[in-house]
Amino acid sequence: MKISRIETFLVPPRWLFCRVETDEGLIGWGEPVVEGRAEVVRSAVEVLSEYLIGEDPLRIEQHWQVLTKGGFYRGGPVLSSAVAGLDQALWDIAGQAYGAPVHALLGGPVRDRVRVYSWVGGDDPNEIAEAVAAQVEAGMTAVKMNASGQLSAIPTAAEVANVVRRVAAAREVLGDGRDVAIDFHGRATAAGVRRILPEIAPFHPLFVEEPLLPEQAHLLHDVVTASPVPVATGERLFGRAEFLTPLQAGVAVLQPDLSHAGGISEVRRIGAMAEPYGAVLAPHCPLGPIALAASLQIAFSTPNFLIQEQSIGMHYHDGGAELLDYVVDPEPFRFVNGHIRRPEAPGLGITVDEAAVRAAAREGHAWRNPVWRHDDGSFAEW
Ligand SMILES: [Mg+2]
Repeated sequence: MKISRIETFLVPPRWLFCRVETDEGLIGWGEPVVEGRAEVVRSAVEVLSEYLIGEDPLRIEQHWQVLTKGGFYRGGPVLSSAVAGLDQALWDIAGQAYGAPVHALLGGPVRDRVRVYSWVGGDDPNEIAEAVAAQVEAGMTAVKMNASGQLSAIPTAAEVANVVRRVAAAREVLGDGRDVAIDFHGRATAAGVRRILPEIAPFHPLFVEEPLLPEQAHLLHDVVTASPVPVATGERLFGRAEFLTPLQAGVAVLQPDLSHAGGISEVRRIGAMAEPYGAVLAPHCPLGPIALAASLQIAFSTPNFLIQEQSIGMHYHDGGAELLDYVVDPEPFRFVNGHIRRPEAPGLGITVDEAAVRAAAREGHAWRNPVWRHDDGSFAEW
């Protein structure tokens, strides 16, 4: 079997899919994307495809090595995400070739269902309460919310109080039996989170996410030491070496993204690397159905796994295209009491609606993240 064709599809709301075809008719799908830079990743996929065409798709590890290391300049979000999407597609093909779900090829399932969480948006504590109530009503056992909007380097009393009010509002609706995770989105400084975290600790968040930007990973140890709340990070890290500093800092939760951190092959290794540190995986996934399917295959085969993010109904999409628009059957993504059941189908376990993908790609997208400013006009982290 040989890889005969690789296509990419830029589809709303902000995603990029790849379709890898073989001369024996098997087709694998992947999701190589960096949100806001999808066209750049598309070019990287085209360059990497030069190597893959004509190769045996079942030599996944060999191809991962060459795709990742075969260029003298390597790593970073664009190249690692391009490799990630192609890696997902190769695992999808392998599963079909061997007649097994990917998690079976990775050693078999270690759990029967996977806990998922939903995003709750809104800046007003009242809106938070309503959004959380809707998720509880839908059966979810955990939600995640942003800690704040733009945040001053040294948070003011009002900013701290706003964060506390929002977390308190979520906890009040959730009760003690459900969880809330708090995402700082890299908007805070080390001094800022050290001021805020003790104030929200009484509400027992599941974890706080990205308290610092990735380039301040050398300060994570101080934050972890000062924080009673478990610290999570990793959605902007692109390979196992980059996870070493957070692990050594004592981070509790790693959040590699299946579409950024080298795909199924590399995230599996990141999970194994986390184990001796006692850290657990909660893969980042505000993306489409292929990235979520790949995440679930890792979740079902990784012992040190905590919870899975997913984007169904997420606030970024604002009524536009949605994850379920691109699959023939939504059943693999149906939530039962806040969990997803183990897929039995070969490969990634979903059937991509190719006609819907091709139609959506004719529309395309040019999604960019907002650029925020502080009140004085200076740049603010989004
Ligand atoms: Mg995040």
